[in-house]
Amino acid sequence: MDAAEFRRRGKEMVDYVADYLEKIEERPVYPDLEPGYLRDLIPTEAPCEPESFEDLMQDVERVIMPGITHWHSPNFFAYFPAASSYPAMLADMLCGAIGCIGFSWAASPACTELETVMLDWLGKMLQLPECFIAGTHGHGGGVIQSTASEATLMSLLAARCKAVRRVQAVESERSESDVLSKLVAYTSDQAHSSVERAALIGAVMMRKVPTDEHFAVREEMLKKMVEEDKAAGLIPFYFCATLGTTPSCAFDHITKLGPLCNKENMWMHIDAAYAGSAFICPEFRPLLNGIEYADSFNFNPHKWLLINFDCSTMWVKKRTDIIGAFKMEPLYLKHENQERFRSLKMWFVFRLYGLKGLQAHIRKQVALAKEFESLVQADNRFEICAEVILGLVCFRLKGSNELNQNLLKRITKSREIHLVPCQLSGRFVLRFAICARTTESRHIQRAWRHITQLAFELLQEQPH
Ligand SMILES: *Cc1c(COP(=O)(O)O)cnc(C)c1O
Repeated sequence: MDAAEFRRRGKEMVDYVADYLEKIEERPVYPDLEPGYLRDLIPTEAPCEPESFEDLMQDVERVIMPGITHWHSPNFFAYFPAASSYPAMLADMLCGAIGCIGFSWAASPACTELETVMLDWLGKMLQLPECFIAGTHGHGGGVIQSTASEATLMSLLAARCKAVRRVQAVESERSESDVLSKLVAYTSDQAHSSVERAALIGAVMMRKVPTDEHFAVREEMLKKMVEEDKAAGLIPFYFCATLGTTPSCAFDHITKLGPLCNKENMWMHIDAAYAGSAFICPEFRPLLNGIEYADSFNFNPHKWLLINFDCSTMWVKKRTDIIGAFKMEPLYLKHENQERFRSLKMWFVFRLYGLKGLQAHIRKQVALAKEFESLVQADNRFEICAEVILGLVCFRLKGSNELNQNLLKRITKSREIHLVPCQLSGRFVLRFAICARTTESRHIQRAWRHITQLAFELLQEQPH
């Protein structure tokens, strides 16, 4: 393919993409296929001779599209949103063209510098305390990671390194392996599985802190565990708080947990993967109060801030903590396999939406969640299972777990909308997350009519 053909195909591809997104609603949101469907549809080996672009695009419709779960369909309400916007897609094209690998400043100066500035811009949108902003002289700063899981792991490893050094500074005879075997990390029993995985990779103990009736960690619960563990000769060193848990969007009490962590010399990392984007709105910013006690903070603009995957943003209060643990380039928190020019997507989205445009997106989606919540509340066969704070509604039919499992089976089978469940205090709960950028009130109303119709049929069939 030469430049002339690229111009032609590129324009065709832009049309294909715009058509796909404009008409996405006409496609079933969830595929109707068995695992292994794809192998039979394509040859067993790569072609020897080059093929035509037309043939390839025909196979996109024949082979790929039937096997896509359409995350950007306005009828997709599963998991959490996967951000997508036209400005971010355009930036991705440009990023592909520049194709640089920014592992050091010299390897691509604009890539390295734009990233630190974009993290400052975003940090200011969230009104992060000054200590997290790099500016020109700050000790803190931000970096883009691929995922929240990666950010959590990084914070845990940095905390581990710091804890070993701290203990050895006063007990110089203690070996590193002895200290490591005594370290204990904590997180909520509602935390994302990646937090536990970080402890596995970091080879440290991790204890799950039980949550209150709102699925949040309170200071007393962590304090009790820390005291027990210290009495048993262990060394508490790390707490990963969650703001906006994956099952129910619950918020740990960081204004109280933070001072406890600071007093106990425990690193506090905040995982706000989903909820973080909402903190750009002044009315939701109080949910982040207590951030001043944290050592590191992360959220995923690739979930809810219209920046396509991957873009997970992490800030630390002291860059030297991370640099010490990973021996990275002093000025920028880069690691060796630092990838593409991801900050371009941020720059495009921030400039073409503006803070106001981004706030409008968050507010619209929260309003849609509230609208769905009212529909559920108005139907006495159903109940709301967790407070609706942002764009997620947890609900269920009053009745057994089995009844709700059957309802979800019917929803999934009908393929009109897509939802996933969660478990809350042993109860099987349906999660309704506002996901697509193009979801409107009419989709919420239609989804609810669909759910109540399936529930009606199900209840009719129940033995009385
Ligand atoms: C989605 C989510 C994650 C995982 O995010 P990745 O970027 O896929 O690693 C972590 N924590 C919470 C609270 C989440 O909701």
